[in-house]
Order: sequence, then C-alpha cells, then structure tokens
Amino acid sequence: MNELEIRPQKLFNEYLEISRKDVERFFSKKELFVEVSCPACKSNRTQFAFEKYTFSYRICEECLTLFVSPRPTEEMIEDFYRESASSRFWAERFFPETAEARRLKIFRPRAILVSELVSRFRVPEPISLVDVGAGFGIFLEEIKRTGYFSEVLAIEPSIDLAKCCRSKGFRVIEKSVENIEDNELQVSVACSFEVLEHLFDPERFIKSMKRLLKTGGLIIFTTLTISGLDLLVLWEHSKSISPPHHINFLSVEGLRRLIDRCGLEEVEISTPGQLDVDILCNTMREMPDLKVPRFIDYIVKNRGPETFNQLQAFLQANNLSSHARVIARKVILEL
Ligand SMILES: [Zn+2]
Repeated sequence: MNELEIRPQKLFNEYLEISRKDVERFFSKKELFVEVSCPACKSNRTQFAFEKYTFSYRICEECLTLFVSPRPTEEMIEDFYRESASSRFWAERFFPETAEARRLKIFRPRAILVSELVSRFRVPEPISLVDVGAGFGIFLEEIKRTGYFSEVLAIEPSIDLAKCCRSKGFRVIEKSVENIEDNELQVSVACSFEVLEHLFDPERFIKSMKRLLKTGGLIIFTTLTISGLDLLVLWEHSKSISPPHHINFLSVEGLRRLIDRCGLEEVEISTPGQLDVDILCNTMREMPDLKVPRFIDYIVKNRGPETFNQLQAFLQANNLSSHARVIARKVILEL
C-alpha cells in the first residue's frame, strides 16, 4: 500500500484547505476552549510545542504525548462534525472516491487480521463484534465475509452514516458510545479504527468501550501515535497533524498508561503502520525547502525501495511507526 492510493494528493490538499476555512467558522471563540491535562497519563507537566491553524499543541513531559490544549468543548467538536464543510467533503467526495481502494488495501486485510487476532487471543463465545464509529460500514461488510463472527453490528452517531450501515443490513446503535446505557449491549470484541485522535476525552471513550465487553472480551483499536518516524520528523509540517480533526497523538508509552488507567489488561501494543517512509518521501518532494535531519535527507534522496521497505519493517518491529494498534482485554468482573 502507498499513501497516494488512499489519500490522493490533490483531493487531500483540497480537504485540508476546506478544513482550514472551517476552523474560522467553528472555532473562533477561543475563550470557550478548555485546558486539559495529558489525555494519556493525566500529567499536568506539559510544554508548548507549536501552534497550527490557531490551535496550540502541547507535549507531555511524562509520556511525550502530543495534544491540543486548550481545546474546543465537546459541543463545539460535535457541531463541527455534524455541520462543517470539511466533514461533508470527507463523506461525499473524499471517502467515496477512495472507498474501493480503502476496501482492498485497508478494510479487507484489517478484517482478516481482526479475525486472526480474535482466534489467537480467544474471546467469549458466541463471538460478536461491534465497530465503534462504523462510518460507511465497509469494515463490517468485510468482517462479515470472514464468516467468523455470529453477530456484527455498528455504533454510529451520524444520521447519514447510520443510515448507510443500516442499508447494508447491519444493526446500528445510533448514538455515541459514551451514551450507551449499561447492559444495552454486551459483545466479545469492540473495535474502533482511527477514532481516538479526534476525541475530546480519549479515556472516557475507552472506558465506554470497555463497558460493552463481556468479561474476557477484547478491545482492538488503532490510532495515530506521535512515537512514529514521519510524525516525529515532520512535526508541525505533517499533514496528519491537522486540527480540528486530529487533536490527540498518544505516544506508545502513553497508550500503555491509558490502557492501564482504564483497568484493561494489555494484550499487545504495536505499530504495524506501512506508510511512514512513503509519507516522508512524498512530503519532502512536495515541500523541497523543508529542513529534515541530514540522515533522513540522505536516505530519502539517495536510496531506493529496498532500503525504504527495510526501514519501514524496522519501524514496525520496534514500535516506531506513526500508526498504532492496541489490543486489550477486560479481565476483572465489575461489581
Ligand atoms: Zn502524558
């Protein structure tokens, strides 16, 4: 897989441009923003990192997580996702134009992988799975194809996306996971892909997912992590560090602390990302004046695919890619 297959440059830049205009419309009332402690470890020992599109990013001195603070309130974030031009562009243009590439390159392999992980790490039977933030339901379609799960369903608060999942025959709970009542749903596996980086309160989200699990059940989620090559090198120039969408970049260490604080048992934290080196090469091509460490500059400009592939494999093996995957288990019976 390469970056341009799933985020074509022109389309992606158009999306980022619309997002920048949305910032003025939805987030001009900075006096309403709230200061938060580190979303991973709760430390208040933080340092200003940089400002981007009027949002301040801070770095946690304890766990090195990068996050926006002060940040917009939950209501402001909800309004933005419901009504902004960039959300509409993502749903009506960006996603449909890349949907089939994403199905083949991301969702199908992910579904196969999730069924393998579930089989390897054992979960309570009959095996049910919920996708939190199911979007267009493509992952659910692919997970259903594996034939491994007795029930698959969606949690999707957006009216249009919920309708889309329902039209594909899936049961949908049309609210945010934080608002699901106790005992409304009990599943063996709760998944969430690329959601955590968007949220006002990641801890509450993970705890809400935990409530959906039977004892012994698994949470599997992916997110962007600041511990990876392209984000650490590109820093504020990274297109992935784009407020208001991405406001949490938990470090690998921070993810571990978050899981622990939520009372979950860590099964595996890994960074299976495939795109760091490719994103680095593309960004350096697009921004030739960008200053990067001499070593990186040398590799990108003088070496070829074989070195790039080996470097990416090294990042995966050492938890140094910017795309993280967390698998955690609910082990203790709650009274
Ligand atoms: Zn921290």
